[in-house]
Amino acid sequence: MEPQNWLPLLLQLGLMWPPRAQPEPQLTIFVVPHSHMDVGWLHTVQENMQAYVTSVYNSVVEELTLEKKRRFIAVEQEYFRLWWDGVASDRQKGQVHQLVAEGRLEFVLGGQVMHDEAVTHIDDQILQLTEGHGFLYETFGVRPQISWQVDPFGASSTTPTLFALAGFNAHVISRIDYNLKEAMQDNRQLQFVWRGSRSLSAQREIFTHVLDQFGYCSAGPPNAPLSLSEGFNWDGEAIFPGTSLEDMYLQMQTPVTEDSITNFTILLVNNVFTRATWFRTPHVLWPWGCDRQFFNASLQFANMDILMDYINSHTLEFNLSMEYATLGDYFRAVHSDQVAWQVRDHRDFLPYSSDMHHAWTGFYASRSGLKALARRASSLLYAGESMFTRYVLLAPHPYLDLAWGLQQLQQLRWAVSEVQHHDAITGTHVPNVGDMFVEHLSTGMQGVHKLMASIIQDRSPAHSGPEPGGHFAVVYNPLAWTVTTIITLTVEFPKVSITDESGLPVPAQAQRSKEMPSAYDLHVLTTIPGLSYRHYSIRPSRSSQEETGEPEPFVAITTQFGGRLRRYGGQVGGSLVPVENGCYIVFMDLDTNLMHSVWERQSNRKVYMTQQFMEYHANSDVWQGPVSDNYVFTPSGTAEPAWEAVRMEIVEGPLVTEIQQYFYREVNDSEPTFTIYSRLARGSQGSDGVLLCHHIEQEYRVGPLELNREAILRTSTKLNTGRVLYSDNNGYQMQRRPYRNYKNNTIARNYYPMVQSAFIQDRRSRLVLLSNQAHGVSSQRNGQVEVMLHRRLMNNNPGNIAVDLTLNDTSVVHPVFWLLLGSRALISGLRQRSGLALQHRPIVMLRKMNEITPRGSGSRQQEAVTLPPSVHLQILSIPGWKYSSNHTEHLQTLQKGHEAKADLRRVLLRLQHLYEVDQDPVLSRPVTVNLQSVLRGLGSVVSVEERSLTGTWDVSEMRRWTWSSQDPHGHRGNSSRPSPPPGGPEVTIYPKEIRTFFIHFQE
Ligand SMILES: [Zn+2]
Repeated sequence: MEPQNWLPLLLQLGLMWPPRAQPEPQLTIFVVPHSHMDVGWLHTVQENMQAYVTSVYNSVVEELTLEKKRRFIAVEQEYFRLWWDGVASDRQKGQVHQLVAEGRLEFVLGGQVMHDEAVTHIDDQILQLTEGHGFLYETFGVRPQISWQVDPFGASSTTPTLFALAGFNAHVISRIDYNLKEAMQDNRQLQFVWRGSRSLSAQREIFTHVLDQFGYCSAGPPNAPLSLSEGFNWDGEAIFPGTSLEDMYLQMQTPVTEDSITNFTILLVNNVFTRATWFRTPHVLWPWGCDRQFFNASLQFANMDILMDYINSHTLEFNLSMEYATLGDYFRAVHSDQVAWQVRDHRDFLPYSSDMHHAWTGFYASRSGLKALARRASSLLYAGESMFTRYVLLAPHPYLDLAWGLQQLQQLRWAVSEVQHHDAITGTHVPNVGDMFVEHLSTGMQGVHKLMASIIQDRSPAHSGPEPGGHFAVVYNPLAWTVTTIITLTVEFPKVSITDESGLPVPAQAQRSKEMPSAYDLHVLTTIPGLSYRHYSIRPSRSSQEETGEPEPFVAITTQFGGRLRRYGGQVGGSLVPVENGCYIVFMDLDTNLMHSVWERQSNRKVYMTQQFMEYHANSDVWQGPVSDNYVFTPSGTAEPAWEAVRMEIVEGPLVTEIQQYFYREVNDSEPTFTIYSRLARGSQGSDGVLLCHHIEQEYRVGPLELNREAILRTSTKLNTGRVLYSDNNGYQMQRRPYRNYKNNTIARNYYPMVQSAFIQDRRSRLVLLSNQAHGVSSQRNGQVEVMLHRRLMNNNPGNIAVDLTLNDTSVVHPVFWLLLGSRALISGLRQRSGLALQHRPIVMLRKMNEITPRGSGSRQQEAVTLPPSVHLQILSIPGWKYSSNHTEHLQTLQKGHEAKADLRRVLLRLQHLYEVDQDPVLSRPVTVNLQSVLRGLGSVVSVEERSLTGTWDVSEMRRWTWSSQDPHGHRGNSSRPSPPPGGPEVTIYPKEIRTFFIHFQE
């Protein structure tokens, strides 16, 4: 747009010079330069590096070095590290060190990415933050203290707790429900003290700032057309290969000149005065930048310098001053104002609607396959970390290069961190960027599989030589509790003898494999102590059982029930077939082939419960009304049954009985579109077997879907729930979700993310759903809970088609759920541990016997690691960090420019209390753990240091800012007593606490 066009536009918009009746305190505008750099969205990381990221850091460092007053905040560490390691010259590195030391370049958030908050698991959030923080501390000795979560689609209340634990002083969010943001602006409540955890309450509160309606982009004229809605960016648009030449210069901004400066000034001053009315202090946070900005920082700063000098030379006239600032500068100013802030409790900001037509609840289930892979990778990493740690501590280890081992883990840490980005695990990226995430995860997983195989090979007991056709299985339990479970080994033959490490036969059951029709799944009942291995030999039986007397696995018996058409009424429940274990009897209805009811033995209650697959239909024509897409869910109506016929088989055996229901979209379809495999396990009744007995495992197959369908599994019960649903924040805590009526979009706005668990209940019983990946969840009717499992969408929105941002996902997904039903007291105690048991199943490594060449170091003494039932081993790893635990010492090393070596003897241990203060009479109690005795199996503990969440602070030196609040004493949970840092090996962990330690073991 030409300069002379500004004024008519402004007049047209009715913009006037702000009226100022009485003298107000002078405003300070904190102009915070930043560039929002998605770690994969429309382009891959590599494409972004080439098109603009490299230029952002090159030119920003140059421009900051030229002029003292300039500032910049750096956010996504994955990009910064790629630039630092692969691009930056020594001279640039020196300049960055200087800028960071002077506080002119500030790292905020400090994670590898700006993680999504709705569908990510807390462990992965901590990982990605730890990865970035470790690098920043190692390289610069700095620790980020302000968050910048400005683009994730809704805000979870796990985040404030984590950032408080990481030592942050302020938390910035932006995308919250539009109604709420409007109300908060009007009432000047965009800033508050957030107590994100019900149990930790004031102890882990954090000052929180919600960006106003302009979000993180520098504002253009209010109500301006989209092309003008981002103002004050003079470097135009980053050019990617394939950008059409006509588009290239459209976004070029008018330079600030004598002719145009008045107009820029009017725009800016108007904007600032509008915003100032929404805040309680005379400091205005003015984010300057947007997506992919500052790749030509020289143009940016050259223009803004002129504008800023001009405004500052008229400070009295405008009653405001402007300065370049970091977020730290802004929050220090706000903090010094001594305002008593409002307190917000543990409720989150989910779901997020950007306006009355756009409920951002579709992404909870977009790219379901990637969501599953991300969590499988995370679980594999979790197991790999503790396996490697055990291995390293058990010196000597002559056959494995430890640096290589660490490298395999680091590669997967990086990939799992990357996929937490708010356009990655959310499924809101284009297909070729999705391929990149998958490739990074798969490569990382292969590396860790290799590492595991090497560790196993080094540790395996010598056994009786190669035996053709036989198998050798090593099973590792990554949890720090004894686990009783059923593992599945796929072998070529059903007649086998299976023995454990002592040569004793073990209970097993064989059935035809679902994946490979010519093979057999061998279900084996196993009990494995915490962080320990079991070894099994599987040999083909040479002769029948009668001759040898050796027990063989029972071959499961299959009963077929034929097909049933979907019914529109009539007789049901007349003929039931029971499937049972020690805890449940599941009744299947032979009139319908659907579930009829579940009898729970302990509470002696039968709950009517049925399940079916349904679909929401979506509009495909943007000219005909709102559409569903990667982000938003906008169904055309209520869900409809997605099948016409269902066939059932029951495969019964002594260990597991499996109900197989195949749902056909059309009566004559040859392949089912939906399948449920429901499994009931029978194991020991001892305390270790409780979790095994008390769940019904369900594995679903869903897809390929028809176009513009969003598939759900709806479970309908006769529980009187009042349409209240509970769903989790990031697997950390539960939120109560009462059903709400809205003017628009009521179905979609009653959808919530489910990362690990959800439940419904009445006075007597609770039904919990646990999952091993993220989904969307809702309760649309009394007694119902529905999970969105898969989406396939395509519409004619020209903008989305132009960038290939569609969701034509033709895959078949196979999520796994555990259903827990029982009295509220019982199920409340089991939920968290069951969720972890589902997430972190034993790792099974199966090899042909002749592939194994034991290296003869033999079966070393291994001692189990067992934590109390309410404490979870959140991580046990060797980070390989190069910094000293002593901050002063570390800074001295950095000053000398010495490159320290990776410390392989420093073990990172994180423990989490799983229960809320009032959740369970026994499990909610504080727990005292003697680390020396608990970790005895790993070696002899020499010292224990307590650290901040991401390891960078010694907690005894960490001082967070305190904020005065309007509720200084209220609602402090029972656990608000700060836990003293450990003087010795004994630590007490209060409900919901997460405590992080460095443990040093004797060499
Ligand atoms: Zn973004």
